[in-house]
Amino acid sequence: MPPPVPMLHRINTDHRPPRNTSSTRDVRAGCHVCGDAVRWSGPNAQGVAARHHDATGHATWCEIALSIAYGRPVADDRQLDLEDAIGAVA
Ligand SMILES: [Zn+2]
Repeated sequence: MPPPVPMLHRINTDHRPPRNTSSTRDVRAGCHVCGDAVRWSGPNAQGVAARHHDATGHATWCEIALSIAYGRPVADDRQLDLEDAIGAVA
């Protein structure tokens, strides 16, 4: 029996704080045969399109839009001042 292979762990030499990352997926799917009568959206849309194809043999499609954001935009205080000024005049 060969000796156990040591586990190689990634050593974190990067001492910056963890990156603030958020992502959202927008999933839409449909059936080319059923047309607009059958459309799916949401996290299960891809699986529903696959199962609809399996069950009916219809050609189905799925579009996935992935949005990724790193960090958050800093609020611009000047914009709030401007809105306050407009509100004071109105
Ligand atoms: Zn169909």
